[in-house]
Amino acid sequence: MDHFQLKDGELACEEVGLAEIAASVGTPVYVYSTATMCRHVAALCEALEPLPDPLIAYAVKANPNGAVISTLAKAGLGADVVSGGEYRRARAAGVPADKIVFSGVGKTEEEMRLALEGGLYQFNLESLDEAEMLSAVAKAMGRTAPVGFRVNPDVAAGGHSKITTGAAENKFGIAIGDAPGAYARIATLPGLMVQGVAVHIGSQLTSLDPLDRAFTRLGELIAELRAAGHTIGVADLGGGLGVPHDPDHPAPPSPADYGAMVRRIAGGWNARLVFEPGRLIVGNAGVLLSRVIRVKPGATDPFVIVDAAMNDLMRPALYDAWHRIEAVRPSGNRRTANVVGPVCETGDTFATARPMDEVEAGDLVVFRTAGAYAAAMSSTYNSRPLTPEVLVDGKRWAIVRPRVDVDALIAADRIPDWLGGCADSPSS
Ligand code: PLP
Repeated sequence: MDHFQLKDGELACEEVGLAEIAASVGTPVYVYSTATMCRHVAALCEALEPLPDPLIAYAVKANPNGAVISTLAKAGLGADVVSGGEYRRARAAGVPADKIVFSGVGKTEEEMRLALEGGLYQFNLESLDEAEMLSAVAKAMGRTAPVGFRVNPDVAAGGHSKITTGAAENKFGIAIGDAPGAYARIATLPGLMVQGVAVHIGSQLTSLDPLDRAFTRLGELIAELRAAGHTIGVADLGGGLGVPHDPDHPAPPSPADYGAMVRRIAGGWNARLVFEPGRLIVGNAGVLLSRVIRVKPGATDPFVIVDAAMNDLMRPALYDAWHRIEAVRPSGNRRTANVVGPVCETGDTFATARPMDEVEAGDLVVFRTAGAYAAAMSSTYNSRPLTPEVLVDGKRWAIVRPRVDVDALIAADRIPDWLGGCADSPSS
């Protein structure tokens, strides 16, 4: 359940009408609901409650807005980060260092130094080379880096090939079969404290089966590593649980189902379990609010041209993501339409032949399930302003990222003194 509901015929986020936000901030704008985030945190915590001291490290990549991270940090969550920038954002938003897991397939020396300096719970290593680099960095700093390998269990999963991460051909982690040798090697390296294992097989998972298989393999690996003398006290099970977004499709497994599966498989591991949920926490806690510019006839269905575009919400163009699109003030009439943005790409299409609320120029619409991997991926392509973000909490709301306007984009460019143009070019 989320806290975007019709109130007196108009869609509201908690106690705040979306038309009020649009009138004040303009469109397009992302709107996030605190109550929805907190509800998702509570559901996951409840599902994991019987486990001793689990660490829920919110995957910052899903939505790195400081106000979002801070809300989750206040709810007790840690952070899963994949870059120096995310590490710094997590710390700035109040996440304690000992609740930060550093994932990411290409950590640099600079990022390693940053996290060692500021502290963290665990580096999830992605290769032996990376382990050797971290060992050298930690040794030079006189620090000890807590580590585990992210293993690739060769389990295909994920709502789309571009968000599958645990198949053998994917770039992530080390092959699970290579793990015993890799652990034997890092046990000899200075500056590293081997403490855990990690796995993350994909995102928007709609079945527990692949997770079940991956976790079962991880359990076998833990037993093998312990038998070889390694101390494995941490098992990071990643994120990936899908969220409901299309009422015509069966809902993904609930956090309660997920928790029961985890307890069945990992409950007896005698390890601290770490979770890295992203989409589950913030996906349905956000909408992208947009205004219809005009409706133009199409060969089959009309084109509803909205003022949000692929630069604001890239997911449909990137991985065919499906977003529910609704009128903020539905008239009750429905029709089939193509919903597109103004960017000069055919890929700037949010929906094709979609039965939806009938809308006309000037109407407000929302794209649902836009709290995760949405604003985080926005850009200024086509020299469009960077979309602002608003956080709602009950009756209160605030802009938590202002619109970055075109003046700021132009001001960021630098024209070198020596620039002479094409005066000597053959066509001049
Ligand atoms: N952990 C890692 C290492 C990831 O790469 C991701 C995202 O793909 C996540 C956690 C979060 O996944 P999700 O948002 O599907 O829970």
